[in-house]
Amino acid sequence: MDFLQPTSWREALALRAEHPEALPIAGGTDVMVDINFDRRRPGSLLDLGRVPELREWGPDDGRIRLGAGVPYARIIADLGEQAPGLAMASRTVGSPQIRIRGTVGGNLGSASPAGDAHPPLLAAGATVEVESAARGIRQIPVADFYTGVKRNALEPDELISAVLLPPARGPQQFCKVGTRNAMVIAVSAFACALHPERQAVGTGIGSAAPTPRRAPEAEEFLAGELAAAGLWQSRAALPEVLAAAFGERVAAAASPIDDVRGSAAYRLHSLSVMARRAITWAWAEYQHDLREAA
Ligand SMILES: Cc1cc2nc3c(=O)[nH]c(=O)nc-3n(C[C@H](O)[C@H](O)[C@H](O)COP(=O)(O)OP(=O)(O)OC[C@H]3O[C@@H](n4cnc5c(N)ncnc54)[C@H](O)[C@@H]3O)c2cc1C
Repeated sequence: MDFLQPTSWREALALRAEHPEALPIAGGTDVMVDINFDRRRPGSLLDLGRVPELREWGPDDGRIRLGAGVPYARIIADLGEQAPGLAMASRTVGSPQIRIRGTVGGNLGSASPAGDAHPPLLAAGATVEVESAARGIRQIPVADFYTGVKRNALEPDELISAVLLPPARGPQQFCKVGTRNAMVIAVSAFACALHPERQAVGTGIGSAAPTPRRAPEAEEFLAGELAAAGLWQSRAALPEVLAAAFGERVAAAASPIDDVRGSAAYRLHSLSVMARRAITWAWAEYQHDLREAA
């Protein structure tokens, strides 16, 4: 097996163009499992682990630019304020060893419907930045990035360079149901984000459809009800009936299957419960959140 090891982003893109059959590897926590179980036998690997540009994050024109190779452990340590939903989800990924190696770029590369980074990226309204040597940069709204079960919008000569996140202007939440507390693939997952600056609600559903997806009707319903009741301004308590109706609409947006991890019926039920709870927690935080008032 050939092992290609670029030490800069330019070199990585050039090697990707020359060897479109080479499998990129970042933390290797998905790729190595596939190789060890003989699910994949790539002729060459394109190791992105020594590309410094991928491991950086920082502000970028009003957004947070998170390099595709920033590991979960660093997101947890550094981004709890700016990207609380993603940081919460990162805390639930695998084990400390997996969180030190695993990256959001790898989660997007695998595009598993169960990947934990996807729901918070959807709820926050993130953009995936990809690049090829021949055609330059493309920015893809994360909701358009997932094209099928474990498939994404990446072209054979492209690599994921970064994720662009609007900094959180309101509370964000992430919930995940699994068969145990750690080292578990989600049976179902849900993320929400309040965007008070535009009076909007963001959602992300995991493990309950062929791809990670938003629940647009639930988002519009809740944002509309909050506006009609003047709750964005008054910050009065969220009526329980509204939270429950939101949960039902989130579940209605899913299209889960029965599999070894859970039944479709359980996934729908758990989603409605998680969505109700997550939005209740997020709203309670908003009631005491001074970000907008400051
Ligand atoms: C024990 C264990 C527990 C786990 N638990 C969880 C969990 O709780 N939640 C969860 O979501 N996942 C979990 N995973 C899966 C895995 O850790 C995540 O999907 C992780 O985000 C993968 O990141 P990585 O950097 O290791 O990706 P890699 O394995 O290096 O790559 C994954 C895929 O992405 C592609 N890729 C990587 N970087 C790029 C790039 N820059 N451009 C283009 N393509 C790229 C690769 O070609 C490959 O197809 C677990 C894995 C293990 C082994």
